[in-house]
This record gives sequence, C-alpha cells and structure tokens, in this order.
Amino acid sequence: MLEISFEDLAISVLAFSMLILGVLLIGRNSTERQVRRRSLRSIITCDVCGHLFKDSSADKVVDCPECGRANQRGRDKSLG
Ligand SMILES: [Zn+2]
Repeated sequence: MLEISFEDLAISVLAFSMLILGVLLIGRNSTERQVRRRSLRSIITCDVCGHLFKDSSADKVVDCPECGRANQRGRDKSLG
C-alpha cells in the first residue's frame, strides 16, 4: 500500500489548494478585464470638442451629439 506521511499529505493538499486558487484568480481577472474593455468601448471622446459621450451601437464611426463631427471608435490607426 502507498504510504504518505502526514507532512507530505498536508503539503500536497496545500499546494493543490493554492493551484486551484491561482487558476480561479486568473480566470476572474481576465473576465473583469473583458467587462471593463467592453464598457470602455462604448465611451467615446470627441476629437474636436472633447465631449465625452456614451454610444452602445456597434458602428465604427459615431457622430458627436455636441458638434456633430464623425468620430472613429477606439484608437485611430490611420497615418497622418
Ligand atoms: Zn464634438
């Protein structure tokens, strides 16, 4: 029969618990990051007047409600 000392058993249980806790924390952090990124995606700052507004549509280009200028959602990757 397999013989394990009490110390080895305690260390194994502790190590396994820490591993489970680490996996759960990593999963939770990535879920929080996704939720935060999704909510920040709906907040847009106008490039001209600096007005902050919320738009939950999926459109790539959104018109500012203050000045009416079309703003690109997210970071502008165009050159120039
Ligand atoms: Zn504007």
